[in-house]
Amino acid sequence: MSGPVAPAGGTHGTGTIASPNDPPILGVLGGGQLGRMLALAAARLGVRTRCLDRSADAVAGHVAQLVVADPDDGGAALDHALEHFAHGLTAATYEFENVPAALAARLAELVPCEPHARALAAAQDRLVEKRLFESLGIPTHPFAPVDSAADARAFGEAHGWPIVLKTRRMGYDGKGQAVVRAAGELDAALRSIRGEGFVGELGLIAETFIPFRRELSVLIVRAHTGEARVYPLCENVHEGGILRVTHAPAMTDDATRELAERSARALAEHLGYVGVLALELFETGDAARPLLANEFAPRVHNSGHWTMDASETCQFENHVRAVLGSKLEMALGATRAIMPCAMVNLIGGVPPMGEMLAVPGARVHLYGKSARPGRKLGHVTVRDADAAAVRERAARLRELADASERAQG
Ligand code: AMP
Repeated sequence: MSGPVAPAGGTHGTGTIASPNDPPILGVLGGGQLGRMLALAAARLGVRTRCLDRSADAVAGHVAQLVVADPDDGGAALDHALEHFAHGLTAATYEFENVPAALAARLAELVPCEPHARALAAAQDRLVEKRLFESLGIPTHPFAPVDSAADARAFGEAHGWPIVLKTRRMGYDGKGQAVVRAAGELDAALRSIRGEGFVGELGLIAETFIPFRRELSVLIVRAHTGEARVYPLCENVHEGGILRVTHAPAMTDDATRELAERSARALAEHLGYVGVLALELFETGDAARPLLANEFAPRVHNSGHWTMDASETCQFENHVRAVLGSKLEMALGATRAIMPCAMVNLIGGVPPMGEMLAVPGARVHLYGKSARPGRKLGHVTVRDADAAAVRERAARLRELADASERAQG
């Protein structure tokens, strides 16, 4: 671990006593692209941002102050870095959900911190999360904790194959999970999950495999006053467990939209949530159970990136407003979509800029990261009053994104 890194050409805000005339500073645990986009939104509101990240190369550091410390360290060194990080902050938040509970609790002792640690705790364990959905009447698919191959076999026999095995903790972007088509595949599936570095004692969850029609997500922002606003539903295309494309607003019937909104509101209300939360859903095509909740993220979310270019208030700004709301009297902004929009993720490689910008209306967002297979390096949006034109341009951008991903190998 090293000490704080001063932004190029600037002075670091810590180490001095904050005066009432100092500009507000938002603290963010994590310094990846989400922290970076939070910082850019905060800057528009006259708010500085300080991120804490394990890497001195964290891309939020290009636009925000950066304190370098390993959040998993847990020792006195982290404690020291955390005090340094928290000094003079107006409020703090997170850009990743696997924040160690002890770290979140320690930070909350030093500075107002939202969303509350109970939201992190629920999102960090798929079993707790699914039970929470059930207790709130949010429809979800059958699931059970699994501690052995025998448990998984019993689940498959009771609910039918295929089943999906997932680690209860730490899985992301499709990692730490496997689809099992028959009992005979169980041992190999368990080996593959362990082989990805997920150890047995973390525990697993089994779920029924849902042959969904589409994946949808709904984002909600809730203020400390309890006021909540819901963004239009989005339609998400995942491949290999990674989000590739989002279309918003998703075309749905009113009943589906209302169910998604009701579910998001129930969850945010129950958690006393402050900030942006994303709820991921499977659309089944079954009128009796049209939506099944898969998981939620207690943070700004990749499927909400379209809001930067096609909603009245983007998710990052609304998160900043919510988290700082009690300190700076910032009310939430409208969440309406201005016009149909699509967002295409750039994964593993970035297409030539000229080719992306040749797509009419393309808005390119690059995160400043070096290319690596599977890494989210940026995204591009297109918006237009004509939804069919948006689909066409998104398809072209997807071709470019896929070609550059293949080229990087
Ligand atoms: P997750 O980590 O739970 O978000 O899963 C990553 C992706 O795997 C999802 O976006 C789906 O595409 C797929 N998936 C996860 N769970 C299931 C399931 N129970 N049935 C079918 N597909 C699933």
